[in-house]
Amino acid sequence: MEGVNYKIAAPQGVDPSTLFFVQVDKDKCQACGECETHCPTGAIQEMHPDGERGVVDPAACVNCGQCLANCPFGAISEQVSYVGEIFEKLKDPDTIVVSMPAPAVRYGLGECFGMPTGTYVGGKMHAALRRLGFGLVWDNEWTADVTIMEEGTELLERVKKGDKPLPQFTSCCPGWVKFAETFYPDLNAHLSTCRSPIGMLGPLAKTYGSEQSGIKSKKMYTVSIMPCVAKKFEGLRPEMNASGSRDIDATINTRELAWMIKQAGIDFASLPEEQPDPALGMSTGAATIFGTSGGVMEAALRLAYEVLSGNTLANPDIKVVRAHEGIKTADIPVPNFGTVKVAVVSGLQNAAKLCDEVRAGKSPYHFIEVMTCPGGCVNGGGQPLEPEMLQSSLFHSTVAKINRRFNQRRVG
Ligand code: SF4
Ligand code: SF4
Repeated sequence: MEGVNYKIAAPQGVDPSTLFFVQVDKDKCQACGECETHCPTGAIQEMHPDGERGVVDPAACVNCGQCLANCPFGAISEQVSYVGEIFEKLKDPDTIVVSMPAPAVRYGLGECFGMPTGTYVGGKMHAALRRLGFGLVWDNEWTADVTIMEEGTELLERVKKGDKPLPQFTSCCPGWVKFAETFYPDLNAHLSTCRSPIGMLGPLAKTYGSEQSGIKSKKMYTVSIMPCVAKKFEGLRPEMNASGSRDIDATINTRELAWMIKQAGIDFASLPEEQPDPALGMSTGAATIFGTSGGVMEAALRLAYEVLSGNTLANPDIKVVRAHEGIKTADIPVPNFGTVKVAVVSGLQNAAKLCDEVRAGKSPYHFIEVMTCPGGCVNGGGQPLEPEMLQSSLFHSTVAKINRRFNQRRVG
């Protein structure tokens, strides 16, 4: 699978900002410069006389993996992998390995098994996790819902009480959070104080989940499964220990999960559809759209609309904020309140423009959603390396499939 070395020892107790999560193989690099074009931070640059690139600064790199996803010669690979450690834990009879897959993973995984781009394989994914030996199949869609309630409530408090500055930025994308911390530290108070969905699920698994399942938290080994490379950085952040131990013991991405399924000899296509385990497995349609740009905004706005106006939304679709590239803005009229002004951004160069406006005191918005990867997590740096996915028609077809599942799942 893509020449990635998944035998690298998992990092323990290190400062993640000193690690290279991706790096260039100088011998494979053809000096084309594509990676530099797609890098939002300038962290990848010419390092050799013949023009070969390399990641020069792990502190500036936000670990988005867009250089890796866009290198036409497969010269960039991941440098941090937990796959070997997870296989060891799966064999250990004293450890219960807990799965925590993100919403977008189930739209990318099927492609690794020959299915069309964007095929929904959530049920097969749960079945595959059980066949691999995961003792608890919990799901990050559950805390995508929790995040929406928390971020929506925080936005309402900012709007009504004025205790924290507006606009509120979303805080679920780890590449964006590192970018903001590094390049706009003066705007920290604008970032939502909520953890990301996986930042919530790790500690909830080891506290509430432990209580509900009767399994002691010290026996649990939690595995975050993401469409992303930057989530490996997030899992290693020193503050991710709200449960009293490491909240997230390991992080892998869609490509690595597919590789594990293949290594285990599981026939993915013939697996049945299975549900996640109770307690931390349920979710709504709002969690489904978390994986596309505009999804977090749309879900949080529904909550804000209903609380501020006192009215129930006749139609839960707020399509005006669904965005697929660049910056999209919208004015949402809310009865009994006025107008809520929002912006949805994907790509950090676009985010920087809005940050500059906030810094200058000229931002008109209440709420800004930022996703590092173009189009959101479905195009994350940890998804299958399918050059065709970068084509607009296939990307839009994946978004359409996510929206269709949302429509099938919505209540009332
Ligand atoms: S995109 Fe790949 S081949 Fe081109 S310069 Fe970057 S690392 Fe080298
Ligand atoms: S991972 Fe992202 S930020 Fe880091 S070098 Fe690659 S493109 Fe740039």
